[in-house]
Amino acid sequence: MREKVYDVVIIGGGPAGYSSALYCARAGLKTIVLEHLSAGGQMTLTEIIENYPGFEEGIDGFTLGDQMQQQAEKFGAESALTSVTSVELEGDLKVVHTSDEGDFETRCVIIATGANARQLGLPNEAALADRGIHYCAACDGMRFKGKTVALVGGGNTALEDALLLARICEKVYLIHRRDEYRAEKFYVDAVGEAENIEPVLFSVVDNVDVEGGFQGVTVKNVKTDETRFLPCEALFVSVGRVPNTEFLQGAVATDAGGYLEADETTRTSVPGVFAVGDIRTKPMRQVVTAAADGAVSSMFAQQYIEELKAKA
Ligand SMILES: Cc1cc2nc3c(=O)[nH]c(=O)nc-3n(C[C@H](O)[C@H](O)[C@H](O)COP(=O)(O)OP(=O)(O)OC[C@H]3O[C@@H](n4cnc5c(N)ncnc54)[C@H](O)[C@@H]3O)c2cc1C
Repeated sequence: MREKVYDVVIIGGGPAGYSSALYCARAGLKTIVLEHLSAGGQMTLTEIIENYPGFEEGIDGFTLGDQMQQQAEKFGAESALTSVTSVELEGDLKVVHTSDEGDFETRCVIIATGANARQLGLPNEAALADRGIHYCAACDGMRFKGKTVALVGGGNTALEDALLLARICEKVYLIHRRDEYRAEKFYVDAVGEAENIEPVLFSVVDNVDVEGGFQGVTVKNVKTDETRFLPCEALFVSVGRVPNTEFLQGAVATDAGGYLEADETTRTSVPGVFAVGDIRTKPMRQVVTAAADGAVSSMFAQQYIEELKAKA
């Protein structure tokens, strides 16, 4: 166990975690961020972020993450490179167990561990990530303005993404393995009415052709095994996301999608435990909304700590 008790342990060093750390440290709370990879989280997977305010020419995700860490540390936040393996969240003093930095005692825990996009499992998928295969229409759609793209998925988010892309791109192939979408009627009707969305039903992605640059996507009909080539400039994958919550072992309430239940206060089902960024139930998962959550969490963490002190 570390000698000092922290006011706030933040798990995850993406934009939500480091914005939370910035605000907590500036509020005079003893704060540490535990991150097992590098600062920036998912931002480090993209070459350019064009929609975070203040960077007219865009900024690469790695640099933005690094700057967020430096800014938080300038005001006294600490960082440790380690993986959180489990937590004890009951009581006024919580314990965070890590893989190689020991245990941390803390009054508040802010969970900022994000969520990873579910992949299709194509052999060249990792190599093409951000280079033809994309997982976020709101992030990368604009790169394909006026072009033809394909999108795979059939839930609410997939149809919402297809509609967004249809507003930007010339044409969108919407690939789905069934003949009916698992989405609300509102989205299904809107997709049906969109003239530039071509549904490609009963189909799965078989292959992505990248000879001499991204050429398009080959789909296979799951009923007939017939293949069809769809010429396009990018494939958007919208088949769900996996929130990083294993280390919690069910200690915090989640919604049906596995995200931590927390409203705009970022408070979770456990007193003194807050959820920020992509890990939280929310309508839009972006850098700017993650950063905003971080700021809000500091306010409610301060309030919680004041209440603890008053109780003591
Ligand atoms: C390829 C790509 C491009 C994107 N482009 C844009 C864009 O252009 N604009 C935009 O606004 N958004 C973009 N996004 C989305 C944006 O990056 C996320 O919404 C944002 O990063 C969420 O921030 P977060 O801090 O909540 O989570 P994350 O960024 O996911 O950070 C979570 C951090 O927690 C760490 N972690 C997880 N589990 C543990 C553990 N047990 N112990 C220690 N650390 C742990 C992870 O390593 C990670 O660093 C993009 C996402 C991707 C994948």
